[in-house]
Amino acid sequence: MQSINPFTGQIIADYREYSSAEFEEIITNVDEAFHLWKLTSFEQRAVSMKNLQVQLLVKKGYLAEIISSEMGKVKREALSEIEKCALVCGYYAENAKAFLDNESIKTEASESYITYQPIGTVLAVMPWNFPFWQVFRFLAPALMAGNTGVLKHASNVSGCALAIEQLVSDAGFPENVFRTLLIGSSGVKTVIENPLIKAVTLTGSTPAGKSVASVAGSMLKKSVLELGGSDPYLILEDAEVETAAQLCVTSRLLNAGQSCIGAKRFIVADKIYDSFKSEFVRLMSEAKYGDPLDPQSAIGPLARADLRDELHQQVEKSREMGAKVLLGGYIPGVKAVLYPPTVLENVVPGMPAYDEELFGPVAVLYRFQTEEEAVRIANNTVFGLGAGVFTADVLKAKLLAEAGLDAGCVFVNDFVKSDPRLPFGGVKESGYGRELSAIGIREFMNVKTVVVK
Ligand code: NAP
Repeated sequence: MQSINPFTGQIIADYREYSSAEFEEIITNVDEAFHLWKLTSFEQRAVSMKNLQVQLLVKKGYLAEIISSEMGKVKREALSEIEKCALVCGYYAENAKAFLDNESIKTEASESYITYQPIGTVLAVMPWNFPFWQVFRFLAPALMAGNTGVLKHASNVSGCALAIEQLVSDAGFPENVFRTLLIGSSGVKTVIENPLIKAVTLTGSTPAGKSVASVAGSMLKKSVLELGGSDPYLILEDAEVETAAQLCVTSRLLNAGQSCIGAKRFIVADKIYDSFKSEFVRLMSEAKYGDPLDPQSAIGPLARADLRDELHQQVEKSREMGAKVLLGGYIPGVKAVLYPPTVLENVVPGMPAYDEELFGPVAVLYRFQTEEEAVRIANNTVFGLGAGVFTADVLKAKLLAEAGLDAGCVFVNDFVKSDPRLPFGGVKESGYGRELSAIGIREFMNVKTVVVK
C-alpha cells in the first residue's frame, strides 16, 4: 500500500498490508478492550475525548500537512478539517450522555423505559477525501457511546490512518479501544465475517457500499452507508444571481470537487440562466489550481491519477455525445495530478455527466422553464444525498425542500455542509442510516426495552 503525493508524484511511504493473523489478533484485542470500555462512565469517556480534541488542535499544522501531502487538499482546507474533528470530539464529549439517557415510556406497567447499550466493535471503512473528518464523525460518537472501533482506511491515506490511531492513544484512551487495520478492500469481507465485529459503517462509493452491505446482510450485521452523491441546486428566477453563483462555485470547488455533498448540478431558471452562467463561468475560471501548500491555490490536485483520468473520460465521453464544454475539460501537461475547473452544458440523459457522479471540479448547468421541470431534473438521478435551493421565496423553498426533493438534506440559500448537531445521510443509492447528532450516536446501540411489572 503506497502513499503518493499527487502534486509532486513522490512516493511518501510504502506500507506493508497486515496479514489476516495480524488483523484477527488486533480485532481480538479490541473486543477485549470493549468489555472494559463499556463499563466506563460518560464522564470518564469525556475526559479522553476532550484530550483528543486538544491533541487535534495542538497538532493541527502537522496533521494538515499529512492530509495535503497524501491526498492533495489545499492546506487551508486541511486545517479546517482538523478543527472540525476537534469540534465533533467536543460536541459528543458534552452531549453523548444526554443523547443516550434512559427514556421513560408510560405504559400499564409500574415502570417501562428504553436504555441505549453499546453493541461492541464496529468496523469503519472510510474514504480518502476527508481522511480525518470521515473517521472522526464515526469515532467520536462510537467511543462516547461505549463502543470500540477498527478502521480500514482508503489505501492511499495510510499515513492519516496511523496518525489517527496515534492521536487516540496520545489522548489517553485505554489501549485498543480504537485501532487501524492496514488492509486492502479485499480483506474487508473477512473482517466483517469475524464474529467479534458487530456492525459496519462505510463511507465511500456506491459500488463499495453495495459490496459491504451484502456481506454485512449475509451475517445479519447492521450497516450504515454514506455513499456517493450528485447534489442538485435549484436557482429559481427570483434568486440573487451573484450570491447564488458564488456559493455554488464555492461548493463545487471545495476539496477540488471531491466531496460527496459538493454541488454538482445547477438547475437554473430560464429567465436568469444567461446571467447565472456568465457569473458562474467567470468565478470558476478565476479559481487558481496548483500546489496545495500555496495559499493562492483555490484547489490542489486530485487525489490519484486514475481518478483524474476517470473524471476526464466522463467529460470527454459527454462531449463526444453532444455536451458543450464552456470551460476547462483538459488534462494539463504537467506531472501533478491537476484538473482545471470545468463547466458543461447541453447535458442530457445517457451521458456520463448526466447519469454519474462527477468527483472533481466539473459542474453541469441545466436550464428549466417550470419548477416542476426543475424538480424532475433534480430527482432524475440514482443519488439522493443533498440539495440546494436559491430563491427569495423561503416558503416556496421549504415546500420544495420538504416534499419535492429526494435528498437526505436540503439547504436554502446556502450550500450543503455537515454539522455535528444535525443528522447527515442520504436516500436512494446515496445510502442509508445517519451519522452525527443524537440520531447518529444511536445507530450502533442496542435500543433495549425494560419493563417492570
Ligand atoms: P471507494 O473507492 O468506495 O473507497 C472507500 C473505502 O471503501 C476505501 O477504504 C476502500 O478501500 C473501500 N472499498 C472500496 N471497494 C470496496 C469493496 N468492494 N469492499 C470493501 N471495501 C471497499 O471511494 P473513494 O474513492 O475512496 O471515495 C469517493 C466516494 O465516496 C465518492 O463516491 C463519494 O461521493 C463518496 N463519499 C460519500 C460520503 C458521504 O458521507 N455520503 C462522504 C465522502 C465520500 P481501498 O482504498 O483499499 O480500495
